[in-house]
Amino acid sequence: MLDRYGRTITYLRVSVTERCNLRCRYCMPAEGVANCPEELSREELLRAMEAAAGLGIRKLRITGGEPLVRRDIVELCAEAAALDGIQELCITTNGTLLPELARPLKEAGVRRVNISLDTLDNKKYAAISRCGSLEMAWKGLEAALDAGFEKIKLNAVLIGGFNDDEIPALAELTKQYPVDLRFIELMPMVDSGEFGPEAFIPCSTVLQKLPEAQPVEQDGGVAKLYRLPGAQGNLGLISPVSAHFCAQCNRLRLTADGKLKPCLHSAAEYSLRGLDAEGMRAQFEAAILGKPRWHGVLSATEHSKAGRSMNRIGG
Ligand code: SAM
Ligand code: SF4
Repeated sequence: MLDRYGRTITYLRVSVTERCNLRCRYCMPAEGVANCPEELSREELLRAMEAAAGLGIRKLRITGGEPLVRRDIVELCAEAAALDGIQELCITTNGTLLPELARPLKEAGVRRVNISLDTLDNKKYAAISRCGSLEMAWKGLEAALDAGFEKIKLNAVLIGGFNDDEIPALAELTKQYPVDLRFIELMPMVDSGEFGPEAFIPCSTVLQKLPEAQPVEQDGGVAKLYRLPGAQGNLGLISPVSAHFCAQCNRLRLTADGKLKPCLHSAAEYSLRGLDAEGMRAQFEAAILGKPRWHGVLSATEHSKAGRSMNRIGG
């Protein structure tokens, strides 16, 4: 379906839980995360995805919180992949639960996996995630490689004074493994407040540190693509702050508590809770027509207007 600015909306990011087994400092608070009794049931999520498919959504990305902490994640993915009209089912995960789940998810129909990996240093991983282990995330990556997904992308949030010294080492992963590595600019959300403006570094820093990276054919996604000589995968630069990509935005978001968000950085929400298929379809139409032209000023000092921490949106 077309929005008011001529953008065709084909992509729905579905957050299936706000819960997470990590507590990344840029994403969520250390404590006080509710158990989310308001989480949509599997039936409600499927009804929503079906309504979306009926309006032209072709790609679904399952996210969270950490989507793999949901007990019914494999069944949910199998049922979502089988929906009429859905051409691509992807998942974004911190990877730590992939050792057990990579193969079942692949068999359920998940085609592509994004794994968050901000650092290759054990101590830094434990510090940024507050409670995670790099070893578990790395085992998850290995399990994903073994399971044979169509595509694996690693996501690293760029944080000045934390991982900018690791840009070359993280980029090297595209030479060592058949993976893409995307650097994402730190977005100033609620609860990423412990990082001040000095922590923000633009994606252009990556190119300064990697002068050998060459632009390659773009794939229509939000990342600007480059490649290191001899690499197996691409480098992607995602710059929501320094160069917004609103004109190409083709997505909607569904939060785990049942709210459609037309824009990541706007407080506008359309509730799907308690609605039948027809009611959900009407809310999807309203959300698509309510999509703003752009997300407004977002900078190292100007906070997102989303009003939610990232684990409560889905990234
Ligand atoms: N738990 C999963 C994971 O970590 O991949 C999925 C949910 S997480 C909210 C989705 C993505 O959002 C991750 O790649 C994470 O790094 C990114 N993210 C979270 N907070 C962010 C922020 N303040 N700025 C930029 N990216 C952020
Ligand atoms: Fe959890 Fe992902 Fe947020 Fe980290 S970025 S706290 S893994 S939801």
